Amino acid sequence: MDSAASRILKARQYAMERDQRVKVHSFEVELHGDNSNHIVSYERGTWHCDCEEFNLRSVCSHVMAMEEILGESVEPAMMATPVIP
Ligand SMILES: [Zn+2]
Repeated sequence: MDSAASRILKARQYAMERDQRVKVHSFEVELHGDNSNHIVSYERGTWHCDCEEFNLRSVCSHVMAMEEILGESVEPAMMATPVIP
């Protein structure tokens, strides 16, 4: 096998095993929500979103969507303490 072919195979394997192979340190994305766009960012385990829900609960559907996409490659966002009436 030539080196280009083996590189492609390796890359494919790393991508498939991303939950074990890849750890995200930081990123910033724009998520197109139903009502407006939101900037979701992540820095070494700390999530942030510019929406109101995140402000109130430290978690929101935009952050949860990115968790879903990135899987084990990121630390889970802090779950909000349920408000007991
Ligand atoms: Zn949000």
